[in-house]
Amino acid sequence: MRQSDSLRRFVFERYPFRGQLVHLGPAWRAMMEHHDYPAEVRDSLGEAVAAATLLAATLKFQGRLSLQLRGAGPMRLMLVECSDGLAVRAVARFSGTPATLDLRELSGDGTLTVTVEGDDVSSRYQGVVPLTGERMSDCLREYFESSEQLPTRLWLRADAEQASGLLLQRLPVTSRPSSATESGTGGVSEEEIEDAWNRVQLVAGTVTGAELAELTDRELLRRLFAEDDVRMFESAPVFFRCSCSRERVATMLRSLGREEVESILAERGSVEVRCEFCSRSYRFDAVDAGAILTPAPEVSGGGVH
Ligand SMILES: [Zn+2]
Repeated sequence: MRQSDSLRRFVFERYPFRGQLVHLGPAWRAMMEHHDYPAEVRDSLGEAVAAATLLAATLKFQGRLSLQLRGAGPMRLMLVECSDGLAVRAVARFSGTPATLDLRELSGDGTLTVTVEGDDVSSRYQGVVPLTGERMSDCLREYFESSEQLPTRLWLRADAEQASGLLLQRLPVTSRPSSATESGTGGVSEEEIEDAWNRVQLVAGTVTGAELAELTDRELLRRLFAEDDVRMFESAPVFFRCSCSRERVATMLRSLGREEVESILAERGSVEVRCEFCSRSYRFDAVDAGAILTPAPEVSGGGVH
């Protein structure tokens, strides 16, 4: 049996290519537990979860990556965030009963935004592209082809039970892992590398949803890249973890303004905010609300983080 909720890195010994496999089972089901998404929205979101996790795992620094789809279609928002430590959360907003898996239709010709943020605010990168592909993997292919980043391809699948994905990335020859260089890649010509890159993409393109979902990492890599020398690394755990907190909700309420908060209090007696990602509920009665709206005398009152 394959490990659940895990991400596995691998490298091609002969070529400057690296890859990752991700599987989310229990974490994916926990993410969906409090949501009643139509299958099309759920599966699209699951593919985005697998994609965000794979891309976050390529980050070279502490921070997070988010994938966001926005449009005027039946699924007007899809947002997935994943940290470099592979804590992921996701949400979609939809209306009606979307009956297509085509992201362009689902989102109403929306846009895909990829944001990478380091914990030190200085490293922030954001790319926005129109949704030109049917599925998330197609849209990300366009995204990578139109950006200055490393050539990267993803294959994704999701259903009610799990979300899985495969990523392949071509590294610049100069920065290939030193261990791979030592194992003899020095003699491989640029042309050979190009041919091999085309070949591994074609082969990866034959992966079926069932194979991604059911085979162990070792079985899958053997099945796909039998003619290549592929080295697998230890797998890393993936988590569903929400970063919401009472303090963050209080900050959000402060930004709403006293008047708005007081009118909700007058109407309902308390303010209740439900986190869209994890469905946790935060309740503020009149006393709590008064405390967060009145600037606290001590310095700790304004903390956002
Ligand atoms: Zn939450």
